[in-house]
Amino acid sequence: MASPEIEALTQALSRLPGFGPRSARRAVLHLLKKRETTLDPLLAALSAVSQKLTTCHICGNVDTHDPCAICADPRRDDRSLCVVEEVADLWALDRARLFPGRFHVLGGKLSALDGVRPEDLRIDALVRRVGAGGIDEVVLAMNATLEGQTTAHYVSERLEAFPIRVTQLAHGLPVGGELDYLDEGTLAQALRARRPVA
Ligand SMILES: [Zn+2]
Repeated sequence: MASPEIEALTQALSRLPGFGPRSARRAVLHLLKKRETTLDPLLAALSAVSQKLTTCHICGNVDTHDPCAICADPRRDDRSLCVVEEVADLWALDRARLFPGRFHVLGGKLSALDGVRPEDLRIDALVRRVGAGGIDEVVLAMNATLEGQTTAHYVSERLEAFPIRVTQLAHGLPVGGELDYLDEGTLAQALRARRPVA
């Protein structure tokens, strides 16, 4: 029997994606045995992130700074903007520097089933961003789900009035596939073969 504190730690870890009760127990045991090399650095890192965690007011990314590291990076191409559903999609595309421009996170996708309306997403913020000028191309990188494609269609209509190119990722993404689970080669190919929104 573990103490309540250790039990609480195990339970907290077991709620993380990729963890179950057994792997959480193994991780806790490892943390307790290797306190100096794992527990203490983990505690320091968690505390530092927790104190500074914020949402970027420009793109919607989560980071420890606002603007986030991507928005603050002067080497990025201001003229191209990649629109994604979730922060996880942004991180997947940014993992291997696949996209050289800036990002915009909608915070979800339109869904009649789940009652997600345009005003629940960061679509107005996107329109304002494009309206401010300086952007030549918006790449819609929605998931290849029905809701993802409905969202892409809606967003492209909202951007119709602007003198910009609106493209979307090439087909070939698995139906229902989440960007985050695709390997970098597939992502790079989908980006290279992007096409104008019909
Ligand atoms: Zn940002």
